[in-house]
Amino acid sequence: MFLSVFDIFKISIGPSSSHTMGPMLAARRFIDLISSIDPPDAVALGCHLYGSLAYTGEGHGTIRAVLCGLMGMRPESYDPEAAEEALTQLDQSAAVSLPNGRLMALSRSSIVVEKGSRLPVHPNGMMFVLSDERGEVVVSETYYSIGGGFVVTEAEMALGPTMPASAEVPFPFGSAAEMLAMGDASGLSIAAMKRANEIAGGGADLDTRIMAIWAVMDRSIERGLCTDGILPGGLNVRRRAKGLNDKLQAQVGANDAPLHSAIDWLSAYAMAVNEENAAGGQVVTAPTNGAAGVIPAVVRYYLDLVPGASPAAVPDMLLTAAAIGGLIKTNASISGAEVGCQGEVGSASAMAAAALCAALGGTNAQIENAAEIALEHHLGMTCDPIRGLVQVPCIERNGMGAVKAVAAASLAGLGDGQHIVPLDAVIETMRQTGRDMDERYKETSLGGLSVSLPEC
Ligand code: SF4
Repeated sequence: MFLSVFDIFKISIGPSSSHTMGPMLAARRFIDLISSIDPPDAVALGCHLYGSLAYTGEGHGTIRAVLCGLMGMRPESYDPEAAEEALTQLDQSAAVSLPNGRLMALSRSSIVVEKGSRLPVHPNGMMFVLSDERGEVVVSETYYSIGGGFVVTEAEMALGPTMPASAEVPFPFGSAAEMLAMGDASGLSIAAMKRANEIAGGGADLDTRIMAIWAVMDRSIERGLCTDGILPGGLNVRRRAKGLNDKLQAQVGANDAPLHSAIDWLSAYAMAVNEENAAGGQVVTAPTNGAAGVIPAVVRYYLDLVPGASPAAVPDMLLTAAAIGGLIKTNASISGAEVGCQGEVGSASAMAAAALCAALGGTNAQIENAAEIALEHHLGMTCDPIRGLVQVPCIERNGMGAVKAVAAASLAGLGDGQHIVPLDAVIETMRQTGRDMDERYKETSLGGLSVSLPEC
């Protein structure tokens, strides 16, 4: 199944690809839908949030994201200051102007949080409605935010993936086993096969576009490394990446700098991105917002700390990571609401491990082994963000995911690619574990750390 590198890595806004970016895109889709239909008796817009979106939507900024989407905003061009201004105006006018110029009633109370009920197809469900003066529904559409900023209607969900058909790309691998077999038959690396698929799918200026994605990732590291203060949301989480960076910079060149400072750099880079995400800043889904720090941290680690590293390797790193992310998304899930954090930070760690192993000259078998090691050792990891905020454990967890990715890449690189458990088996195990996982541990903040923190 073909998922483009640009489907996996998308410019997004914090704090969540499924709970912020997805709802904004869904709202925007609904606006486009009703603008094309333009029913004459419609007067008011509304939205109902279900399942995980209802339980943790407040902490994830879902209501704000839906309102912004209904006002026509998009994640890739989102400007926080302009959004704040538009929301203040909305509070005064209680109305929004559609692209066709018609005014519809809309206010914060138009977004209804339906705790205790979920829609049948996926835990992240939303129903948008357009009603007439008597409150009767004129048009409605249901959308699911299925992780990583992917949004589908119920009908699209039933159809399954609608990416270009497998036959349209030269290497239509739908599993890691097929990927390895096609690599053996063609003599190409995973990145080279993914590159050929992207070009067949219409990917002009591929390297330039991938480097533009990397530039956004890198900027989120840089912003995070020089910003301190308290993160929003009321949990009073202090940003730590700047302090880590200051201490690590002071060690640079010192003879007694500990060897494990490389691990601290990884954590600082990953936490910098996730603090930016928690603050509502711009990040890249990798494959989600909650796990957005792992892959940038590992790429930066490679560029800054691996002797002989070259930025020219970055496109192949992200192509390799996207190949692994596509397999996980297609055969299991990258959504914390569906399979817990193993699907978010676990997937990101597997993708990063594969990327680094490729950059270090690993064979396809070693790259597959690196991804397998990283994912295997995240199996069963739950999603239990405290107060529904993508802060604790999420920020630190990205640092740990990056450290595991580097360890997995190194371990695989020291081996010959032979190993007991294939990556496909680990992906399937993750899917089954997620299916069996209690709902309390799937982005509802009803269990785990979210209920273990003593109230102060
Ligand atoms: S615990 Fe993991 S899956 Fe859950 S919100 Fe945090 S990063 Fe995302």
